[in-house]
Amino acid sequence: MYKYDPKSLCADEFINHEEILKSLEWADEHKSDRELAQSLIEKAKELKGLTHREASLLLACDIPEINEQIFSLAEQIKKDFYGNRIVMFAPLYLSNYCVNGCLYCPYHLKNKHIPRKKLTQEEVRREVIALQDMGHKRLAIEAGEDPVNNPIEYILECIKTIYSVHHRNGDIRRVNVNIAATTVEEYKMLKDAGIGTYILFQETYHKESYLTLHPTGPKHDYNYHTEAMDRAMEGGIDDVGLGVLFGLDKYRYEFVGLLMHAEHLEAVHGVGPHTISFPRVKRADDINPDDFDNGISDDIFAKIIACCRVCVPYTGMIISTRESGDCRERVLKYGISQISGGSKTSVGGYCDDSQSEASTEQSEDHAVQTASGAERSEVSTEQNEASTEQFDVSDKRSLDEVVRWLMEIGYIPSFCTACYREGRTGDRFMSLCKSGQIQNCCHPNALMTLKEYLVDYAGNGTREIGERLIESELANIPSDKVRETVIERLGLIEEGKRDFRF
Ligand code: SAM
Repeated sequence: MYKYDPKSLCADEFINHEEILKSLEWADEHKSDRELAQSLIEKAKELKGLTHREASLLLACDIPEINEQIFSLAEQIKKDFYGNRIVMFAPLYLSNYCVNGCLYCPYHLKNKHIPRKKLTQEEVRREVIALQDMGHKRLAIEAGEDPVNNPIEYILECIKTIYSVHHRNGDIRRVNVNIAATTVEEYKMLKDAGIGTYILFQETYHKESYLTLHPTGPKHDYNYHTEAMDRAMEGGIDDVGLGVLFGLDKYRYEFVGLLMHAEHLEAVHGVGPHTISFPRVKRADDINPDDFDNGISDDIFAKIIACCRVCVPYTGMIISTRESGDCRERVLKYGISQISGGSKTSVGGYCDDSQSEASTEQSEDHAVQTASGAERSEVSTEQNEASTEQFDVSDKRSLDEVVRWLMEIGYIPSFCTACYREGRTGDRFMSLCKSGQIQNCCHPNALMTLKEYLVDYAGNGTREIGERLIESELANIPSDKVRETVIERLGLIEEGKRDFRF
């Protein structure tokens, strides 16, 4: 039996099964203890976070007034740290070749009918142009695990291509990376390539379930996967992003595991996760989410997010287009700070028909291949997109529709990428959060990058709403000097200058 030790580098010790079970038991015993729950709410108000045990109690708590307090504290913390800014990003699927056997993912090796596709550098360039033309500045690249088809050299080449494309005023300024667990050496290469956050979803912290859900392939190794963030940090990547795929195992178990992982990173590296993502299992090619017994309701989902906001106040929280507009609106309030918009989860999904037609005047590189290796020459764009899709997207709105919607419901869509470009990663980013200087730094950056979006990409209605919003939000910059600089820079953006930041 392993002993719980947040400082250990062994997965079985820092994500300790017995300690999780004890925490859940303790939470069950005390979930109706009003005094205890109230004391935890008071502790959470000090903004130093809560332990995994304390967090598990709040999640289990069945006292309606306490639950109301959890939600309103989450809302308050969100407002204090992130104001009304929401950072925008999009996923970019590079390749769906994969040698793993994940039971929830349609890219699993045994799926022989899904077309396998890997973007050539020319196709990466086209996808990036399409994303830039929408207005995106921040991407998360995604790839299946396949050392032959998607080796690290391929990923690095794609990153280089992405940063090199500048279409019209377009610019991808931050590339986050969501690829399989790898070695310290390869993490160093990613760091040197200038990536932002390294994201790796744990899928499930429950080791036994993990082994069943990942029956074959390198991902089967639970410890190697769970210890990946330590190797990433050893490789120099300060910003790492955690996530559980909700629906695979019991959400209360996963929640404790997630917080233990955050505590472990803090204990060993002095800095917690930069982000936590909240994906739920979705329908996909040969995947039916109902085959997994642990689906959670929107109410539970919202409570998990609110509890997370209260327990790790400085961590960015991400929601993707897996969720509907209504669900996203609800959880934005309780702590989500980043969302994707206009996303495609297929390989090559952003290019329009004409571009794709051009790409089928192919060299061998451009060919779409089946898993068995046979070439499929007659794949229409529509079929191609549907068939290489990783999962169904619920929020299918365009980026402009999402931007407009966010502004209509009181948020500032931000295309800011300044922190990591200014060296504010890891604990330096956390210091910015804790210093209260966010309002003189992130807020102006949000307004200036929104202005770029409005000038270069917004539809008419969106632009009008945005200009009014910027005008009124200028008053919320505390420093007179910073405000004057921002006003001057907004004018320069109008004249064609780009990429200002604090
Ligand atoms: N291949 C990488 C790895 O092994 O971690 C990650 C890239 S994968 C494209 C990104 C994430 O999509 C996975 O970590 C998983 O959580 C999620 N995913 C896979 N199948 C899904 C499904 N059916 N519904 C929702 N999310 C899914």
